[in-house]
Amino acid sequence: MKPPRPTKIVCVGRNYAEHARELGNEVPGEPLIFLKPPSAVIGNGDAIRLPDESSQVDFEAEIAAIIGSSCSRVRADTALEFVGWYAPLNDVTARDLQRADRQWTRGKGFDTFCPIGEAVPAGEVDVEALEVICRVNGELRQRGAVGQMVFPIPFLIEYISAFMTLEPGDVIATGTPAGVGPLAPGDVVDVEIPGVGLLSNPVERR
Ligand code: ZN
Repeated sequence: MKPPRPTKIVCVGRNYAEHARELGNEVPGEPLIFLKPPSAVIGNGDAIRLPDESSQVDFEAEIAAIIGSSCSRVRADTALEFVGWYAPLNDVTARDLQRADRQWTRGKGFDTFCPIGEAVPAGEVDVEALEVICRVNGELRQRGAVGQMVFPIPFLIEYISAFMTLEPGDVIATGTPAGVGPLAPGDVVDVEIPGVGLLSNPVERR
């Protein structure tokens, strides 16, 4: 079974200390939560389109936890029971617009800015061992592991579900490791979670 279409994509900013530092930010004391619209979702092989409004569109390789059953105010110690799938995700970001707008809806929300790979059932995944790797044109750019997250996935689900009900298909993008950088037309960006799957997207002008 594939996950249903998400009602929301809940993202976590600065969840790897080294990535927070590379953009000149502090590690937050609580999870930094924002949303991407479901209209931004594309699949494996679909093109990421660079909009004319931005001159710096970055890749951000992330581990996505996809909700399998509806949950509200769950505790961290049972939270993973509500995850139905895991998948590679690219939190594509117009960095210049993210900075200029002061809030992130436009910079994170353009059409094609949320590639998500094939979802693998949670029962087939060793969550403790999850890693995420990013390559651009075959060159290694990012590597991170769940053990490096500032806020682990169960805590994120407790924190998020305390203020909004998570529905089946909803996506939690768990943050990106250090090494983010800009994309150019003609690039191919791969986000791989070893043992889960490979998400590969070409980059084109709008
Ligand atoms: Zn991100």
